[in-house]
Amino acid sequence: MNTKKNILITGGAGFIGSNLSTFFLNQGNKVVVIDNFLTSNKENLSSFKSNIDFEFFFGDVTQKKIFTQLNKMNFDIIYHLASPASPKQYVKYPTETLMANSLGTLNTIDYVLKSRSHTFIYASTSEIYGDPLLHPQPESYWGNVNPVGIRSCYDESKRFGETVCTTSYRQNNIDVRIARIFNTYGPNMEKDDGRVISNFIVQSLSNKDITIYGNGTQTRSFCYISDLVEGLVALSQPNLAGQIINIGNDDEKKIVDIAKLIKKKTASKSQLVFKPLPSDDPQKRKPDLSKARKLLDWQPKIDLSNGIDKTITYFKTRFKI
Ligand code: UDP
Repeated sequence: MNTKKNILITGGAGFIGSNLSTFFLNQGNKVVVIDNFLTSNKENLSSFKSNIDFEFFFGDVTQKKIFTQLNKMNFDIIYHLASPASPKQYVKYPTETLMANSLGTLNTIDYVLKSRSHTFIYASTSEIYGDPLLHPQPESYWGNVNPVGIRSCYDESKRFGETVCTTSYRQNNIDVRIARIFNTYGPNMEKDDGRVISNFIVQSLSNKDITIYGNGTQTRSFCYISDLVEGLVALSQPNLAGQIINIGNDDEKKIVDIAKLIKKKTASKSQLVFKPLPSDDPQKRKPDLSKARKLLDWQPKIDLSNGIDKTITYFKTRFKI
């Protein structure tokens, strides 16, 4: 029997959070979202804001008062997603990023203890592997991160967030799980968040130059949002306390090939132009998904071509490009 669950999602108005909220509401659960709209969008909540199982709290996870407002409401699952998450956004908001993943994680875990909530799932990132020297990246890899570079506000605060989680698991026996989320794309991405897929689709649809940073031989492995959501949901199943699991897609592609694919699919007149590579931009990235396949009985299903088609349709419809 499917019992109704109470779920808290910090950062629930963001790209991943809003898709996760939609999934849980569609399954008949109660979803509470905390968001301060720093890099997210009210519009992402519009389809369910009148749903009686949805509740929204405007606020910042780095402030204790937002948790006081929850009034010790007890949750079956808490997803802590609140943080700027694209390179453009965390370089623009470095202090907010540091704080959301450090103090914000401490505050959210403190709330788990005080409210006697059950499962805490932390949205970590493939960025904790930095510019990896091991390929593909298994969860056992400690990474190669520049602690003082432009990405460090994100990479190091996510690493610290993981430390908060694992310490709370050992010291307070909190049921924490860590999702290391790899590059994800799909509906509810912002059109100006600077990520490669949103940039290339928007540029192609408006026949503007497609901006390739560096020579485009760097690689990423892109996961469609519905697969990512299913992975995050699978991570909430029983008996996974203390687990750290990569979630993404292991179909690795060169950035220049992504540009060509999107240009072709949109029948665009755009030119491919090459711009300087930002510092510390990882040369390659691909998750080792063995652990996810084994422990979550999950794997990505949507291939890149299909996912890009759906994402192009989303950008055309939502932004009228
Ligand atoms: N990138 C690019 N052109 C763009 C945006 C990004 O060539 O307009 C590159 C970027 O340098 C990186 C990759 O695409 O190598 C993925 O960038 P994104 O910002 O999406 O995320 P990252 O994986 O770097 O966190």
